[in-house]
Amino acid sequence: MELYWGDLHNHCGISYGYGSLANALTAARAQLDFGAVTGHALWPDMPPRQPGFEFVVDFHKHGFAKLAAKWDDVIAQVNAANMDGEFVTFNSYEMHSRRYGDYHILSPAPDLPLVDGDAPAALLAQLDGRPAFAIPHHVAYVPGYRGIIWERFDSALSPLVEVYSKHGCGMSDDGPFPYLHTMGPRDGRTTVRRGQALGHRFGYTASTDHHAGYPGSYGDGRLAVWADAKTRPAIWDALLARRTFAVTGDKIACSFAINGAAMGSEISAGERQIVLSVRGCDALDRLTLYKNNAPWRVIGRHDLEPRAGDVFKVRLEMGWGWAADGYEWEGRLKLRDGELLGVETCFRGRSVLAPSQEMADDDAMNALDNRIMAQENDVLDWRCTSFQNHSTLHPSTAALILEIRGDAHTTLEVLLNGVRARASLGELLACSRGVHMKPYNAEAFLLHRAIPEWAYTLHAAWTDNAPALPCDVYDLEVRQVNGQYAWVSPIFVES
Ligand SMILES: [Zn+2]
Repeated sequence: MELYWGDLHNHCGISYGYGSLANALTAARAQLDFGAVTGHALWPDMPPRQPGFEFVVDFHKHGFAKLAAKWDDVIAQVNAANMDGEFVTFNSYEMHSRRYGDYHILSPAPDLPLVDGDAPAALLAQLDGRPAFAIPHHVAYVPGYRGIIWERFDSALSPLVEVYSKHGCGMSDDGPFPYLHTMGPRDGRTTVRRGQALGHRFGYTASTDHHAGYPGSYGDGRLAVWADAKTRPAIWDALLARRTFAVTGDKIACSFAINGAAMGSEISAGERQIVLSVRGCDALDRLTLYKNNAPWRVIGRHDLEPRAGDVFKVRLEMGWGWAADGYEWEGRLKLRDGELLGVETCFRGRSVLAPSQEMADDDAMNALDNRIMAQENDVLDWRCTSFQNHSTLHPSTAALILEIRGDAHTTLEVLLNGVRARASLGELLACSRGVHMKPYNAEAFLLHRAIPEWAYTLHAAWTDNAPALPCDVYDLEVRQVNGQYAWVSPIFVES
């Protein structure tokens, strides 16, 4: 099977977000293999319009009406963007709910109707047998304040749960990426771990929940599937089978199987042969295999054995500066005495999570021309945009991750907007180096430290002969040194 990357939950100007659907689809295609662009459709138990709450009620009602008026055109555009083997799309819309928590409906049906109802099940029941499911998202908000209500969750309707997005990470109440948005804190009663402890069986996704038409925006959540082909039916089958994992941004490739059954599987076994492998994008810091919500085996950075090799990853990061509306980069990399094996883009759109009173709709918002223009064995040309960092704790940079075959003498020559830099892999294995675009107070770029292959790849195998519960649940968390994560869908083993 092949690994494909996507974003199944994000917004633009088709409802109460910003930017055109066409630009959103262009951004998705530039970095992903599949995607949906989600319309905000309904909020059956929206609080009444009252003093101090007028703006919130009004932008929701306006957004829902906008989507309803354009729905036929929206699905026509989304369907037209679906091209087997190149880029796969799904149709999608979202229901807010205090009673159930928020869900988005996802379907491969080209004629998905926009229906009304007061529960995810009520929406799905009206689809006349079209394939569809409902994914709960930003689950860890306070119950009644649009966090998930696990007692009303039905895994038959929801094989997947979104565990990470711009809202933060909902895996647990003590993990990284706490919720900091205006919707309030993360609550231990609604986390993913809580849902598992209650016995629900589901797989993991991440998506951006971006609100200005930039699906796949780096750092805001992406998901991967293992699928037979890059087609609507094959990726749909992978989603249904929960052959999925969630990442924050870096495309950390993970495989995980027990007795040959892939992530997401339900099997029966006394003895469990557990096999996993990870190919990261930065040095691996910690891999945690959970059994029944508790760490069962941990591999740390210090456990990885250095070994000789000729493959390295180097990250080239661009940004900083003052350009809140974007700074455009045009770059060329030339490799001397080395081979460019691959490149991964870490492009972002301007960061927007919710409408604000100051911001007007603008079709051209995030109409960015972020792309690789040419790639050869020893040359790479690209164009991208970075933004002034959102805060000193929230990067808005753009980056490329280069995989290079070479040795200490291999040299990277970078030309970015007329500024040149040069460093050998030997120098970059020792330390990173930054380059400013002007003498003071300007954008900059950074050649990160080079990472040898042994530090970003890992294979592990264990045998577990000790069933603990009628159904034991195994899942995986990967953390890189740069703080990027992957969360791999569980395997459910009955004894
Ligand atoms: Zn949303």
